Amino acid sequence: MTITNALTVDVEDYYHVTAFSKTIKKENWCNYESRVEKNTYRLLEIYSEKKIKGTFFVLGWVAKKYPHLVREIAADGHEVACHGYSHQLIYNQTPKIFREETIAAKSILEDQAQTFICGYRAASYSITKRSEWALDILAEIGFVYDSSIFPTHHDLYGMPGTPISPYDISAQNGRTIVEFPLTTLKLANYQVPVAGGGYFRLYPYLITRTALRYINVKENNPFVFYIHPWEIDPKQPRIKAGLTSRFRHYNNLDKCEKRLIRLLDDFSFSPMRDVLAGLGLMKKDDVG
Ligand SMILES: [Zn+2]
Repeated sequence: MTITNALTVDVEDYYHVTAFSKTIKKENWCNYESRVEKNTYRLLEIYSEKKIKGTFFVLGWVAKKYPHLVREIAADGHEVACHGYSHQLIYNQTPKIFREETIAAKSILEDQAQTFICGYRAASYSITKRSEWALDILAEIGFVYDSSIFPTHHDLYGMPGTPISPYDISAQNGRTIVEFPLTTLKLANYQVPVAGGGYFRLYPYLITRTALRYINVKENNPFVFYIHPWEIDPKQPRIKAGLTSRFRHYNNLDKCEKRLIRLLDDFSFSPMRDVLAGLGLMKKDDVG
C-alpha cells in the first residue's frame, strides 16, 4: 500500500529567515523587495498541475500584508495553517508575547481562509526543551496539531531523542496536542534530517529519494516534506550575511524547483491534517 506523506510549505519571504535576522531587522522588512506572492503562486501552479494538495503554514505578517494570498491558497483546496506572526524564535520570546502573537495570527488566517485553523509550525522549528511551554499555549488556544519539533541536533533547533513519527503530547495543562515531528532518518547514532528545505537542496536528489523511500517502505511511516516559496527563486536579491547563513540560504536554489517536481512524481502527498486523520490521530470534530 502506498503511504501518503504530508506536503508542507512555510509561507514567508527571503528576508524573514532566521539566517538573516542579524542583518535585517523586523522594522525594516517593508524596505525589501517582496517576492513571496509570485513564488507562492508558482508553488500553487506546480501543485495544481500535479493535482496535489498540501498544507501552507502562513506567517501572520505575510497574511496581513497580502490577504488575497491566503484566500487563493484556500480556494485551491489546500489546508491553511499557522506559521506564527513575526518569525521570532520562540525560546527568545516570553510566553505572554508568544500567546498574543499566535492568537493574532490564527485569527487573521481564520478570517481570510474562512475556516478553523488547526495546525501550527514554529519559526525555525524553535520548540525545544527551553520552549516546551509553547505546546501548552498552542493546545489552550485551539490548535489540534503542531509540526515544530525536530528530533535532531542543530545550532538553532532540535530535541534529540524525541519520537520520530507522529504522536500525542500531553501538555502540562492536561490538554493534548498531536505532534508531527520533522522527518529524520537514523544513520549510525545520529538522526539525519531529510524533511526538506536546506537539506533537500544540499543532498543530491537520489539520496533524498532513497531516504524517504526507506521511511515509507521499511519503517512504514509517513514523512513530512517542507519547502519555502523563496527556495524556488534563484533570482532573489542577495543579502550580505555570514558564510554559513549564505550557504544555508542560497545553496542549490537553481535546482530546487526541478527536484520538487520529481519528488511530487515519486511519492504520494496530502495535507498534514489528512495524513494525521488517516493515522487516527485526529478526529473529524477536531477540524471544526
Ligand atoms: Zn519560517
